Amino acid sequence: MHHQPEYMLGVDIGTTSTKAVLFTTQGKVVAQHAVEYPLMCTSPGMAEQDPLLIYAAVLEAIRQAVSSSKAAAEQIALVSFSAAMHSVIAVDSEGNLLSNSITWADNRAGEWANRIRDKMDGRAIYLRTGTPIHPMSPLCKIMWLRHDQPDMFARTARFVGMKEYVFYRLFGSWLVDHSIASATGLFNLQQLDWDCGALELLGIGANQLSQLVPTTHHLSGLEPAVAQQLGLLPTTPFVIGANDGVLSNLGVNAIGPGQVAVTIGTSGAMRTVIDKPLTDPSGRTFCYALTDKHWVVGGPTNNGGSIFRWVRDELATAEAAAARDAGLDPYEALTSIAETVVAGCEGLLFHPYLAGERAPLWNADARGSFFGLAMHHRKQHMIRAALEGVIFSLYSILPAVEDLIGPTQRMMATGGFARSALWRQMMADIFNREVVVPESVESSCLGATVLGLYALGKIDSLEVIADMVGATHRHVPNPDNVALYARLWPIYSAIPQLLEQQYRQLSLFQRETAA
Ligand code: ADP
Repeated sequence: MHHQPEYMLGVDIGTTSTKAVLFTTQGKVVAQHAVEYPLMCTSPGMAEQDPLLIYAAVLEAIRQAVSSSKAAAEQIALVSFSAAMHSVIAVDSEGNLLSNSITWADNRAGEWANRIRDKMDGRAIYLRTGTPIHPMSPLCKIMWLRHDQPDMFARTARFVGMKEYVFYRLFGSWLVDHSIASATGLFNLQQLDWDCGALELLGIGANQLSQLVPTTHHLSGLEPAVAQQLGLLPTTPFVIGANDGVLSNLGVNAIGPGQVAVTIGTSGAMRTVIDKPLTDPSGRTFCYALTDKHWVVGGPTNNGGSIFRWVRDELATAEAAAARDAGLDPYEALTSIAETVVAGCEGLLFHPYLAGERAPLWNADARGSFFGLAMHHRKQHMIRAALEGVIFSLYSILPAVEDLIGPTQRMMATGGFARSALWRQMMADIFNREVVVPESVESSCLGATVLGLYALGKIDSLEVIADMVGATHRHVPNPDNVALYARLWPIYSAIPQLLEQQYRQLSLFQRETAA
């Protein structure tokens, strides 16, 4: 009999869309489909999503990816999940929604984050749970809900995340993988269990959270009608998987010792894999689970590609418009303008903290600045300084990571920034390391399926990923530029510490006077 090819389906439940990608078991993309949904930001700091829309998007993305591939249901060996971290949904005892999904981007728990950090022993909670005390975390969000919406808090049977809600709808039980759990601020990394101290602080019991399972946990038994709608079998295994950050490390093949994955999309992050959980005595890094033997430490930055977008829309408006009129991509046009300036911008620095900053400062009050402006600086210097500033700010996470895990080497770079050769070279020069851009498109989906193969015992090690990921670009450091950036780095990195008090005063002023 002719042997049928086997496929695997990775599903990534993200903040802007859910993507489903069908791969061959060798990691080649066969078909994909994305379904978008809105982020609701109708009051200050709010960033919520409708769980019903996201659930529908998950079903639709799977259905479209499978049907467009023409793969038969029997050929799909597994479905495995990635999801955005930190979401919180309140549900009642029947599983009815009491709230929307409050996403990582929601900042309304800001004051509670400060109080937990400064007055409620937040440092000890971070050291046990690996999630920085920040309004993004479910720990801070549930605290905020308890005080801001006491009626809803009292009626809440469970606080769950978005992936838990999807699995509940598909299989009828509340399950959370160790990876999503490790990003809640409620999960004790050493005990692999909910953290008693964190639960006590919130006044909730473990029975109000989902049942913990490893990221390799799998189940089957879809309703036959649902299975048919999706193009799957009721027996198709569903692997619960992990969070999108750790799976992206796997999906770009940055899982070996000293290998670092850096992403600059709208925001950015730096992450590396180690074999046991580790937290930072100074609280600069996160630690999230990939499997019980693979842990990811790193730091997120608020200010990545959003800075280049700001430059395009607010600073270099005329240049961007001229590019559009000439039928060019404005980002490419601005990159060419930046290229006319030497590395280091003749002494102009840009701190990109327009949206406050997470790692390594963890200071929501930090603010951006051009530093060193002189009469010889022109707009092209400012454009280039902004691009360099984004890379410097990512680079400032590296010491925190290296203090924990030792020296790092190769870097795998992903995200929209990687479309620019200039920006990639800046990364190689500022980090003084080789930068490799992997060819994989949806790294979290690919990572999810490789974890799925591992979960089902079809591979013995995650290292098969090395054969699935190629490279599109390689950049080696330019020694002249390395030397210039090395001279600027101590100046750049001193500024945020020096200005801490002024950042706070100015952000208060901004809040009071904002129109
Ligand atoms: P998201 O994080 O929303 O998935 P992307 O990974 O697509 O976004 O990144 C979007 C960012 O990538 C933009 O804000 C911009 O800064 C950057 N970008 C997009 N195109 C280019 C380009 N041609 N050159 C440099 N940067 C680019």
